[in-house]
Amino acid sequence: MKLIPHWIDGSSVPGGQSAPVFDPATGQEQARVALGGAPEVDAAVTAAARAFDTWSESSLTQRTQVMFAFRQLLAEHEEELARIISAEHGKTVDDARGEIVRGREVVEFACGLGDVLKGGFSDQVSRGVDVRDFRRPLGVVAGITPFNFPAMVPLWMHPIAIATGNTFILKPSERDPSAANFVAGLYREAGLPDGVFNVVHGGKDAVDALLDHPGVRAVSFVGSTPIAKYVHERATAAGKRVQALGGAKNHAVVLPDADLEFAANHITAGAYGSAGERCMAISVAVAVGDAADRLVEILERKANEVKVGPGNAAGTEMGPLVTEAARERVENAVGTAAAQGATVVVDGRGLKVDGYEGGFFTGPSLLDHVTAEMDAYQEELFGPVLAVVRVDTLDEAIALINANPYGNGTALFTDSGEAARRFERGVDVGMIGINVPVPVPMSYYSFGGWKDSLIGDSPIHGPEGVRFYTRPKVVTSRWPRPAQQVAAGFTFPTSS
Ligand code: NAD
Repeated sequence: MKLIPHWIDGSSVPGGQSAPVFDPATGQEQARVALGGAPEVDAAVTAAARAFDTWSESSLTQRTQVMFAFRQLLAEHEEELARIISAEHGKTVDDARGEIVRGREVVEFACGLGDVLKGGFSDQVSRGVDVRDFRRPLGVVAGITPFNFPAMVPLWMHPIAIATGNTFILKPSERDPSAANFVAGLYREAGLPDGVFNVVHGGKDAVDALLDHPGVRAVSFVGSTPIAKYVHERATAAGKRVQALGGAKNHAVVLPDADLEFAANHITAGAYGSAGERCMAISVAVAVGDAADRLVEILERKANEVKVGPGNAAGTEMGPLVTEAARERVENAVGTAAAQGATVVVDGRGLKVDGYEGGFFTGPSLLDHVTAEMDAYQEELFGPVLAVVRVDTLDEAIALINANPYGNGTALFTDSGEAARRFERGVDVGMIGINVPVPVPMSYYSFGGWKDSLIGDSPIHGPEGVRFYTRPKVVTSRWPRPAQQVAAGFTFPTSS
C-alpha cells in the first residue's frame, strides 16, 4: 500500500502510524497517510526556524522570482494536480482545475507584493525628524486546512506567508493529503530553499502540537466552526496570532422580478457542484413571494438532470461524497427533513452508479417548504441538498439570513438595483453576490465571512493576508549635523 509521507526540510519523512486514504468513487482504500504528532511537528518547526534565519533576510526580488517560477509550475502541472485531487476528494477533474486556478491567483497576487509592502513615510514630523514604517515577517507560521479544497485553501495561505518572508508548516486534511506533497515538490523545483515549506500530515495530535508549540508564531485555520473555535481559543491562549475560518449556510434569495431560469441554473450549479462540499455552496434558496412555485419547478427539473458519476469520467457534473460517513450523514438529514415536515421534491438517497456500487455517492436532493426551525435549515449538511424556504418579502429574507448563525456568502437574484443595494447593505454576511451564486472574491480582495463563519477578526488572503503574516515597525529618525545640537528633554517628546 502506498504511504503518503510528511515533507520536512526538503525530504520525505515516513513516520510511524498511518490512516487510510480512500478512493470515494469506488469506496476502496487506495493509500495510507502518515499521522504525525509532537515529534514530527517539532522537527518541522526546527527546520522552519532554521530556514527563517536566511529566508527572512532574502531580498524581495528573490522571493518574487521563486513565486513566479512556482506560479509557472502550477500552471504546467495543472492537469496532474487536478487528477490527484479528484482521485482522493471525489470532485470532477474540471472542478479540481478550477480550484487550482483560483489558488494560483493568490500566487499571482504574491508575485506583486512589492507594491503592497511599500511602507509610509512622513517627512519632517518635527524639525529634522522623519518617520517611516515597514513590515517584517512573523517567523514560523502554520496552516491547518480542510478536505474540500486540498489545493486552493492552502494556496490562500502559503504563497503570501512565504512571499512576505515567513516559513510555513502545512497540516492538510488527512482525507486527501497528496496535493500538499505535490505542491511541496513544485516549490522545491521553483527554487524555494529547504525548510521554508513543510508538510506534517495527521489529525488532532498534529494540530494540537502546532497550536501548543512555542516556535509557531501564527496559525491560519480553515474548516468547520467547532474546530475553528477550538483552534482559535487554544492558539490565542498560547500567544499566537490566529485567523480561523469556519463553516457556512449560504442563502440565495430569488425575487419575483429575477430571470427564474437563469437563477435556477446558477443555484443548481452552486448547490450541487462539488457535491455541495464547498464553504460557498448554496444550501438554502429563499424564494420570495410568487417566485416560489415556478422556481421549485425549474429547480426540480435541473436537479434531475445533474450527471452523477466518478470525478475522472468525462461528462460527470457531480462526484461522490468524500467518505461513507459523509454520505450517511447527508442521507439521514434528508430523512429527518421529511420527518420534520419538509417536502422531498427530489430524493437523492440510495443512488447507485453503475460499476461504482461501493462508492460514496448520493444524488442531488431538493427540499421544499423548509422552515428555520428544521434541522435541514439549521445544520451545515455539506452535501448535495438544497433547501427551499418561502418568504413574502425581501426584508423577511434579509431578516432570515441575519438570524442565521453563519455569515459566509449569500446571493441575490433580481433585476432591481434598489433591491440589490438594500440587500448588500442589509445582510450580516462577508461575501455577497448579485446575480452571482458563488461570490468567491479575487485574490487581491480578502476572503472571509462574518459571525460563526469567521472566528476572530482576520479574513484570509489579499491585503488582509499580508497584514496577518507581517507586523509593522515604525522608525523615528533624526540625523543632526554635528554642530546642530538639539536639547534632550526629560518631558515626554512632542514635535516642534
Ligand atoms: P474539519 O473542521 O473537520 O477539519 C479541518 C482541519 O481540522 C483538518 O485539517 C482536520 O484534520 C483538523 N481537525 C479535525 N478535527 C479536529 C479536532 N478535533 N482537533 C483538531 N483538529 C481537527 O473540516 P473538514 O470536514 O475537513 O472541512 C469541511 C468544513 O470546512 C466545512 O464546515 C466547511 O464549511 C469548512 N470550510 C470553510 C471555508 C471557509 O472559507 N470559511 C472553506 C473551506 C471549508
